[in-house]
Amino acid sequence: MSGDRQMKKNDITEVYIEDFTKTGEGIGHIDGYTLFVKDALIGDRVRAVITRPKKHYAYAKALEITEPSPDRTGALCPCARQCGGCNFQEYSYEAQLRWKRRHVEQTLRKIGGFENLEVRDVLGMEKPFRYRNKAQYPVAEIRTKSGETEIAAGFYAGHTHYLVPVRDCLLTDRGDEEILDIILEHMRRFHVKPYDETDGSGLVRHILIRRGKRSGQILVCIIINGRNVPGMASLAEKLGQIEGMTSVSLNVNRKPGNVIMGDEIIPVLGDPWISDQLGDLTFRISPKSFYQVNPEQTEVLYGEACRAAGLTGRETVFDLYCGIGTISLRLAREAAEVYGVEIVPQAIQDAKQNARLNGIGNAHFYAGAAEELVVRGYFEEGVPLKKPDVVVVDPPRKGCDGKLLDTILKLEPRRIVYVSCDPATLARDLRILSDGGYRPEYVQPVDMFPQTSHVETVCLLTHS
Ligand code: SAH
Repeated sequence: MSGDRQMKKNDITEVYIEDFTKTGEGIGHIDGYTLFVKDALIGDRVRAVITRPKKHYAYAKALEITEPSPDRTGALCPCARQCGGCNFQEYSYEAQLRWKRRHVEQTLRKIGGFENLEVRDVLGMEKPFRYRNKAQYPVAEIRTKSGETEIAAGFYAGHTHYLVPVRDCLLTDRGDEEILDIILEHMRRFHVKPYDETDGSGLVRHILIRRGKRSGQILVCIIINGRNVPGMASLAEKLGQIEGMTSVSLNVNRKPGNVIMGDEIIPVLGDPWISDQLGDLTFRISPKSFYQVNPEQTEVLYGEACRAAGLTGRETVFDLYCGIGTISLRLAREAAEVYGVEIVPQAIQDAKQNARLNGIGNAHFYAGAAEELVVRGYFEEGVPLKKPDVVVVDPPRKGCDGKLLDTILKLEPRRIVYVSCDPATLARDLRILSDGGYRPEYVQPVDMFPQTSHVETVCLLTHS
């Protein structure tokens, strides 16, 4: 058979799964034709149906596992298949960690051209479930099996806007179910409609629940296509009876599209933020500020980032993409000065408050895009940038802006610590830094997202 055997929609074939894509689909080959198979694990042999054929590859879905992978474990969550969240849940935890290490290594090689860069074993969790401190549940009207409509909260099935009702996700806190039930029941009683993205009608879009895992505090923010929820005072009162409920607020988002939160927060009960502790530091966290979702592993991650920074107390440090200052304040205790930069103004307000809360006077925070503030050469007008000894970057998945990397190279810090949540953009950016004279010493993956294919890493670069 030829190397490019074209397959047709609904063709059924048997295939052995050799690897995963970075989004967790199984990869198999038939006569040189690549199949991306949903619901299949490395080591499975499956009978799969072609769902979207292309010229040299096709998307498919496993119908039956004819020979299970030795790493296959049963899924614990009844929604694991439909809900796109836990694409690794049926894969044993040891196998997940092995795959993540290999994935980082291969991506650094393929995209960055790094052949011999040391990728350490992934630092995993002892209990890799119920680790999340935050969930954003979309709310929608769904059709039940008996044909009636019903209001539900849950998660979108992978790559769709089809709502899978989930009230007790195994990655989140058990208590979320009670909160969701109270809000959904209130919506029924007061005839509050969920938002309908097809025509922009309806009110309630998402429910954000965030917990301080150490402090025990809970924040609920209801994201609405309006400014008020009928009967909100009585809803807040009910929610307020839950132990730890510190903050109930509304967020106004009238814009169509996928961005979950709008700009305006309307406090309803308590202040619109909660506090939590990481290590021996306390942090205030507002609804729109970024806060790592797995606090247990965050301590591991930050420990690695600080170790890589190698501070002695005399250094000037930049912490770019600093969020609410969680890494900055930890570094500040071991450095002379820390300058944190972050694009979300509310997160910078939190960061400044967090410095005060912890009595840390040598951390300074600035709101703006890192690529603008660092590239222009000053954080405050008239005060040129001090030359940093260490630069820490922790960008979102798209990685660092090229202009920012060029400027960091010109600033010539002794060390760069790159914290990344996407190995592909890490590989791209390490190539730029490496060509600019920095040597990546090692990459340490940390499993922040068990049961999913996401990987977080810390990489130390030194001036060579
Ligand atoms: N280091 C922090 C935050 C990491 S997440 C922590 O560990 O909690 C990445 C952060 O980068 C987010 O807070 C996001 O708002 C911010 N961000 C995104 N684009 C940015 C940009 N261009 N410049 C500065 N910050 C940015």
